[in-house]
Parts: sequence; structure tokens; C-alpha cells
Amino acid sequence: MEAVRVLHDILIVWGWIAKMTTKFTYLFLIILSFAAFASAQDRQVMAQAERITGDKFPITLQTSRGATIYAAEEPTEAMLKAIDKGLTDLFAVARKNNYSKKLNYSDYTIYIARPDRMKDGTGKYSPDIAVGAAQYAGTEYDKGGYIYAAGMVVSQGKMAFVIANHTSDHARVSDLVRYEGEHLVLYHNDRRRYESSKDHSKGGGHPILQ
Ligand SMILES: [Zn+2]
Repeated sequence: MEAVRVLHDILIVWGWIAKMTTKFTYLFLIILSFAAFASAQDRQVMAQAERITGDKFPITLQTSRGATIYAAEEPTEAMLKAIDKGLTDLFAVARKNNYSKKLNYSDYTIYIARPDRMKDGTGKYSPDIAVGAAQYAGTEYDKGGYIYAAGMVVSQGKMAFVIANHTSDHARVSDLVRYEGEHLVLYHNDRRRYESSKDHSKGGGHPILQ
């Protein structure tokens, strides 16, 4: 009888292990498919950033506050610090406007592109990227099919934007991060205000949030 009882107990334990293993397998598969979906989305955003800028972004790193950076060329420590400061300023002004969603450094992905010009029309240091004119065609910004942009949103959903690499005037970097970030904060907190402020070809610029 003793042997039968031991065998019975072993079967129960075995059954329990099998059940838990099945559960963990399902859980594992679910996590795996979420990860695959997320990385497919990341690849789409990367492809979009490459298309907008004509650059590749082989350098991946994080700012000390935790924002994700993809860079065409190695950014300086001052550049990364300026990005964190821009996000800090953005979160402060967002809270002032009673917006609370997506105010974590880790929510943001910033692509640092190679600048397509170093100075603006007045000769001032202004690393900008050339992008297709699109809705800016025929406006004062149009330089013949393209415009120079200081920054541009790459993905609203994945909270990504692109700016050009700077080697000085890092205050400008903080401003640009705050400005592009305004579009993303509005997209996730106030869709109506986002829609009415996203397109600068009809006038209106930055800062949007006061
Ligand atoms: Zn803007």
C-alpha cells in the first residue's frame, strides 16, 4: 500500500509540474510575441528616421536620465546633457498645463542626424536637416523641393523625433528637444490641440506650451 501511495503522490506532483510548465510555456510565448511586435515597430520607426534624413543610425545609447538615442555619429556628452535638459523643461511645462501622460525620459527616442547645413540664411550657427518639402512646398520655407528643419517628429505613437547633431550652442538643442517634445506630449494628452498645432506651414511655431 505504501508503494501505491508514494506512486500516487509522485503522479500528483508530476501532474502539477506538467501543468505549471504548460502555463509558463504559454506565458513565455506571449512575452516573446509582444517582444517581436515591439521590435518590428522599432524597426519601422528606424526606417522612417532613415527615410526622412537619408542617414543611418548605427550608434545606440541612453542619456543619463534614460532617453533612448540613435545617432548617425558619436554625440558628445554635452549634446546628451542638453537633450536631458530639454526633456526636463518639457515635463515641467507639460505639468504646468495639467498634462501627465508620457512624462518619463524613457518614453522618448531621439534620433541624432548628420546636419545638412551648419548655418542659417543669416550666417548663424544652426545645424539643421534637409527634409522633403511636403506641405511646406511653395511656402517661404521651400528651398526647391526640400526645407531645412531644426527637428521633426518621426513617430507620434512611439514618441520619436529627429534633430541634427550639434557641437556648440547646446542651449539650442535643449530648446529643440522641448519643442519637438511638445508635439508628442500634445498627441498623448490633448489630441485636439495636437491637431491644431502640428503643421507649421499654416503659421504658428514654438513654444506651444507656456
Ligand atoms: Zn513643431
